[in-house]
Amino acid sequence: MPADLKIAEIKAYPTSFPVPPENRVALGIGTAVKRDAVVVKVRTEGGLVGWGESHHGRAHTAVAKLIETTLAQLVLGMDASDVVGVWKRIYDKQLASHGMGAGTCLAMSGIDCALWDIRGQAAGMPLYQLLGGAKKGIPAYAGGVSLGFQAPGPLIDELRRNLALGYKAVKLRVGDAVKRDIGRIRAVRQACGEDLVILTDANIGYSVEDVRRVMPALDELKVGWLEEPFPAHDYRSYSIAKGFGRTPLAAGENHYTRFEFNRVIEDGAITILQPDLSKTGGITEALRIAAMASAYKLPIHPHSSMTGLNHAASIHFLCAIDNGGYFEGDVSRANKFRDELVSKPYEVDKDGNVWPLDKPGLGLEVNEAFLEQHPAIEGPGYI
Ligand SMILES: [Mg+2]
Repeated sequence: MPADLKIAEIKAYPTSFPVPPENRVALGIGTAVKRDAVVVKVRTEGGLVGWGESHHGRAHTAVAKLIETTLAQLVLGMDASDVVGVWKRIYDKQLASHGMGAGTCLAMSGIDCALWDIRGQAAGMPLYQLLGGAKKGIPAYAGGVSLGFQAPGPLIDELRRNLALGYKAVKLRVGDAVKRDIGRIRAVRQACGEDLVILTDANIGYSVEDVRRVMPALDELKVGWLEEPFPAHDYRSYSIAKGFGRTPLAAGENHYTRFEFNRVIEDGAITILQPDLSKTGGITEALRIAAMASAYKLPIHPHSSMTGLNHAASIHFLCAIDNGGYFEGDVSRANKFRDELVSKPYEVDKDGNVWPLDKPGLGLEVNEAFLEQHPAIEGPGYI
């Protein structure tokens, strides 16, 4: 191992900002009152610094603590370019014996991303190239914590502002009440026309009976997918609901590692796979999930999560897999983690595409002053 790539330090920063009342959005999981994230910094003996994101998992201070007090001790001194070896060490020592604990998966995801950032810098290659991909435009949909349960009029106003940025696809929130959900989708379809790609996300807000009732309308209104009608572990409900119509079921942002995606794929009920690089075990694991899905001809539309770090990583990743779909654009109102934390927030072009960054590694810097100015706020993020 080149001495300068030895992992010398791992730090994790839990960070938060409050969402002011005028920017709050109601979704199937409640109303967002603050935003949380965990930013991971890895430094090598030679002085290379890599950055990654661990999803907060509604326990951002606990995830950061797990990184600094346990996972760091497992991997300090290892070769930062040995992402497979680091992954296996954490799997062997932390994950394998006690089940797929979400905490460790979240925590290891941020470390893995930071190691890929370092690998890219050491190789002098942008991440998409290092991963075997090419620079290309990736279609993006307008998603994130946005477009919630408001009345159709304000919803269409908010949507039109996003379509003006270039987006050709949008994800609407459902899981409010079936009748109101259908009313919103119908209003958007009528206002924006047949060409707009409409996707939907219930954030676990539906029962099996709700999906039975909503599905004919989703089919009629040509909705691209119904995401997370049920919790991730509710495999039986997904199997039942699959038969209700033509609109495909989507999930994956709350499925962890290839060892949970193997069941998702074998069950055949969820056919739109949405692993999140900051949750499912990092870029290393998301590549394995994508390869497994590719063998079944299933597309990967990664959930993109909280910060500009995961946005950048997800775009590189989508440039390097052969079954990639949409990038989840984050059109949340005033997301400081998108706009202020990183030096190069992603941009959508007039054709609705996003592009990977060209500098080595992830291709951006982190504003460390932001992390000092936005310490963790304890308490629930959705009420
Ligand atoms: Mg979702």
